[in-house]
Amino acid sequence: MIIDLRSDTLTKPTQGMLDAMMSAKVGDDVYKEDPTVNELEERIADMFGKPKALFFPTGTMANQTAIKLHTNPGDQVICDSNAHIYHYEGGGASFNSGVSCKLLQGERGMFTAEQVIEAINPPDFYHSPLTALVEIENTANRGGGSCWDFEELKKIRTVCNEHELGYHLDGARIWNALVAKPETGKDYGQIFDTMSVCLSKGLGCPIGSVLVGDEDIMENAIRIRKILGGGMRQVGFLAAAGLYALDNHIDRLAEDHQKAKEIGQELFALDFIKRVEQVETNIIIFELENKADEPKFLKTLADKNIRLSGMGNGKLRIVTHLDYTNDMHEYFLNELKGLKF
Ligand SMILES: *Cc1c(COP(=O)(O)O)cnc(C)c1O
Repeated sequence: MIIDLRSDTLTKPTQGMLDAMMSAKVGDDVYKEDPTVNELEERIADMFGKPKALFFPTGTMANQTAIKLHTNPGDQVICDSNAHIYHYEGGGASFNSGVSCKLLQGERGMFTAEQVIEAINPPDFYHSPLTALVEIENTANRGGGSCWDFEELKKIRTVCNEHELGYHLDGARIWNALVAKPETGKDYGQIFDTMSVCLSKGLGCPIGSVLVGDEDIMENAIRIRKILGGGMRQVGFLAAAGLYALDNHIDRLAEDHQKAKEIGQELFALDFIKRVEQVETNIIIFELENKADEPKFLKTLADKNIRLSGMGNGKLRIVTHLDYTNDMHEYFLNELKGLKF
């Protein structure tokens, strides 16, 4: 038994999901004739109260498309210094859209409306890049699965209105935020222009993200997706996994969150652990007292068939997910109690 807590992308389709995939009705989605993709897009558009949705192979491609829709070459995007679009999309913002990122020093991946105001370049000051877009991540991955205060998100919306900026949500883990917090998908839809939501993280699909947004801004989304090589054919087989996940795998995220809390508490009790960041959803970020012990600590756990990942700067990350069972959880908590290495 391998307990793999490196990421919530490691899940494999359940039997129920596989059955749904194998019996999907399909067509050519480049012609928009795949009924299952169309159904998934309609359903997700509806969940977030947006008129348009488009299926993508990856969250990266959905985010990159959104950045392209909101900007012109030379423009600047405001995001957190920990943002996925900055760290983990291969420099795509500059490669695909020719834009730079203005990085804000947020708290656990989250910044304030005040910080946004300070970061906006005056549009008539032509020496500086033109600020075009504010991008936020909820939950914030490198922030430790942190959930934004919805009031702050609304304040940032107001700032975007005042300065005519686009507002994009990287919602790779929006489902975790929806389960952990009182806001609904439609609440998010009311304030963001575009949102990417991921099916292959907590929801356990093998592949898939969806970009939702308003009619005018989404008009060119299908063209950008085609240019990026994301026009796919009979992908109803994959969209069927998404529909299955919406029906079966959202509410259960609360179990992942509960397990993550319990792991966080157990880690906190160990004297060689310096700090555990607040656990709000399914991600636990922690640091050892002594950074140099990291390889030995990871090896000790690996020898017990437990895998987790280092994030650099002495930070370690654990992510709970659909394939992390109750039995694994019990075993892991027991191994953590009184752990020596
Ligand atoms: C995983 C992730 C994405 C999308 O990643 P893909 O692997 O391209 O699907 C985007 N944003 C965040 C915060 C993520 O964690």
